[in-house]
Amino acid sequence: MHHEMSAAQHALHLILEEAAKRGLKKVKSVRVIVGQTRALEEDYFNRAFEEASKGTLASGAKIIFSISPLKAVCSSCHKEITPASSLSLSCPFCAGTDIEIVSGQELLVGDVE
Ligand SMILES: [Zn+2]
Repeated sequence: MHHEMSAAQHALHLILEEAAKRGLKKVKSVRVIVGQTRALEEDYFNRAFEEASKGTLASGAKIIFSISPLKAVCSSCHKEITPASSLSLSCPFCAGTDIEIVSGQELLVGDVE
Protein backbone atom coordinates (compact mmCIF):
# COMPACT_ATOMS: atom_id res chain seq x y z
CA MET A 1 0.00 0.00 0.00
CA HIS A 2 2.92 2.28 -0.65
CA HIS A 3 1.24 4.50 -3.21
CA GLU A 4 -1.90 4.74 -1.11
CA MET A 5 0.24 6.17 1.68
CA SER A 6 1.89 8.81 -0.50
CA ALA A 7 -1.46 9.64 -2.11
CA ALA A 8 -3.02 9.98 1.35
CA GLN A 9 -0.25 12.32 2.46
CA HIS A 10 -0.67 14.39 -0.69
CA ALA A 11 -4.46 14.56 -0.21
CA LEU A 12 -4.00 15.52 3.44
CA HIS A 13 -1.71 18.36 2.41
CA LEU A 14 -4.35 19.67 -0.04
CA ILE A 15 -7.13 19.30 2.55
CA LEU A 16 -5.23 21.16 5.26
CA GLU A 17 -4.41 23.94 2.81
CA GLU A 18 -8.08 24.26 1.85
CA ALA A 19 -9.18 24.11 5.50
CA ALA A 20 -6.71 26.86 6.43
CA LYS A 21 -7.89 29.03 3.54
CA ARG A 22 -11.47 28.71 4.76
CA GLY A 23 -10.63 29.03 8.44
CA LEU A 24 -12.02 25.62 9.39
CA LYS A 25 -11.21 24.31 12.86
CA LYS A 26 -12.07 20.74 12.02
CA VAL A 27 -12.63 18.84 8.79
CA LYS A 28 -15.75 16.69 9.01
CA SER A 29 -15.90 15.36 5.50
CA VAL A 30 -14.06 15.72 2.25
CA ARG A 31 -14.32 14.45 -1.30
CA VAL A 32 -11.17 12.94 -2.71
CA ILE A 33 -11.09 12.68 -6.49
CA VAL A 34 -8.62 10.12 -7.71
CA GLY A 35 -7.66 9.47 -11.32
CA GLN A 36 -8.34 5.95 -12.52
CA THR A 37 -4.73 5.41 -13.57
CA ARG A 38 -3.55 5.85 -10.00
CA ALA A 39 -5.23 2.53 -9.24
CA LEU A 40 -5.78 3.30 -5.58
CA GLU A 41 -7.67 0.89 -3.37
CA GLU A 42 -10.34 2.75 -1.45
CA ASP A 43 -9.89 0.66 1.71
CA TYR A 44 -6.12 1.07 1.74
CA PHE A 45 -6.46 4.74 1.00
CA ASN A 46 -8.89 5.25 3.91
CA ARG A 47 -6.59 3.43 6.29
CA ALA A 48 -3.53 5.32 5.06
CA PHE A 49 -5.42 8.59 5.40
CA GLU A 50 -6.51 7.75 8.94
CA GLU A 51 -2.87 7.12 9.80
CA ALA A 52 -1.54 10.23 8.03
CA SER A 53 -4.18 12.59 9.46
CA LYS A 54 -3.65 11.69 13.13
CA GLY A 55 -3.21 14.81 15.21
CA THR A 56 -4.33 17.13 12.40
CA LEU A 57 -7.66 18.86 12.03
CA ALA A 58 -8.58 16.37 9.32
CA SER A 59 -8.35 13.49 11.77
CA GLY A 60 -11.55 11.42 11.67
CA ALA A 61 -12.85 13.14 8.55
CA LYS A 62 -15.24 11.14 6.42
CA ILE A 63 -13.71 10.49 3.01
CA ILE A 64 -15.97 10.45 -0.02
CA PHE A 65 -13.90 8.63 -2.57
CA SER A 66 -14.55 9.28 -6.27
CA ILE A 67 -12.72 7.80 -9.21
CA SER A 68 -12.16 10.05 -12.18
CA PRO A 69 -12.15 8.02 -15.42
CA LEU A 70 -9.33 8.13 -17.91
CA LYS A 71 -10.00 10.59 -20.76
CA ALA A 72 -7.75 11.71 -23.55
CA VAL A 73 -7.79 13.93 -26.61
CA CYS A 74 -6.19 13.06 -29.93
CA SER A 75 -3.80 15.77 -31.06
CA SER A 76 -4.36 14.93 -34.73
CA CYS A 77 -8.17 14.89 -35.04
CA HIS A 78 -9.04 16.50 -31.68
CA LYS A 79 -11.64 13.89 -30.79
CA GLU A 80 -12.09 12.87 -27.20
CA ILE A 81 -11.36 9.24 -26.48
CA THR A 82 -11.69 7.08 -23.39
CA PRO A 83 -8.81 4.64 -23.50
CA ALA A 84 -8.94 1.48 -21.44
CA SER A 85 -5.46 2.09 -20.11
CA SER A 86 -2.76 4.71 -20.40
CA LEU A 87 -0.22 2.21 -21.66
CA SER A 88 -1.15 1.66 -25.29
CA LEU A 89 -2.67 4.86 -26.54
CA SER A 90 -3.80 5.24 -30.10
CA CYS A 91 -6.74 7.07 -31.57
CA PRO A 92 -9.66 4.85 -32.68
CA PHE A 93 -10.72 7.52 -35.23
CA CYS A 94 -7.50 8.34 -37.07
CA ALA A 95 -5.05 5.83 -35.56
CA GLY A 96 -2.87 8.72 -34.42
CA THR A 97 -0.58 8.06 -31.51
CA ASP A 98 -0.15 11.64 -30.37
CA ILE A 99 -2.64 11.42 -27.51
CA GLU A 100 -2.91 13.86 -24.66
CA ILE A 101 -4.37 12.61 -21.40
CA VAL A 102 -6.76 15.21 -19.98
CA SER A 103 -8.09 13.39 -16.93
CA GLY A 104 -7.69 10.18 -15.02
CA GLN A 105 -4.30 10.95 -13.49
CA GLU A 106 -5.28 13.61 -11.00
CA LEU A 107 -5.54 13.67 -7.24
CA LEU A 108 -7.83 16.44 -6.07
CA VAL A 109 -9.87 17.29 -3.03
CA GLY A 110 -13.21 19.05 -2.93
CA ASP A 111 -16.19 19.78 -0.68
CA VAL A 112 -13.97 20.26 2.36
CA GLU A 113 -16.37 20.76 5.25
ZN1 LIG B 1 -7.36 10.99 -33.88
